[in-house]
Amino acid sequence: MNLYSGKMNKLVEELSALPGIGYKSAGRLADYLIRQPEERVKSLADAMLDARQNVHFCKTCFTLTDADICPICADANRDHSTIMVVEDTRDLAAYEKTGKYPGVYHVLQGAISPMMGIGPNDIRLKELMTRLEGDVKEVIIATNSSLEGETTAMYISKLIKQLPIGIRVSRIASGVPVGGDLENIDEITLLRALDGRVEL
Ligand code: ZN
Repeated sequence: MNLYSGKMNKLVEELSALPGIGYKSAGRLADYLIRQPEERVKSLADAMLDARQNVHFCKTCFTLTDADICPICADANRDHSTIMVVEDTRDLAAYEKTGKYPGVYHVLQGAISPMMGIGPNDIRLKELMTRLEGDVKEVIIATNSSLEGETTAMYISKLIKQLPIGIRVSRIASGVPVGGDLENIDEITLLRALDGRVEL
């Protein structure tokens, strides 16, 4: 589409390429941005570029961070023998927001999806198995309750059960709606799902 002219059109095109932003919303955002003080727009552009250049995966849990080891993995007060496995950093943030989970995380950066051609080697699963060689007592699988999330949970639990060491594997309880992304679920439901986790 080419409803705006020149640079305005370029801005609308770029914004409408973002997830969840349609052409109409992109027009509204572009209109808003050009009415802001130049400083404000520069600060936004700088934040985007700065995050893109400096945010990477934590070397231990693979969440997004700008340090080598994220603050959660670096925190000696947390229980490093309990690992909660989530699909992405937004799911980790959902559980962190409750402030009631004392363990650490492992962020898969995706889920197994045969339909999309995403296999076990395309997510951070090998890295999880390497972590289990350390002193780990429990793995809580908190992947989403979508088909992909359930497939991933089953796959991981099978792998862990094949290990010669006895690690407890549990799955967060239902209560998290089917197909629901963890990040959209309220804190009480998340905590109930954690407390009511079932051993696999
Ligand atoms: Zn980490």
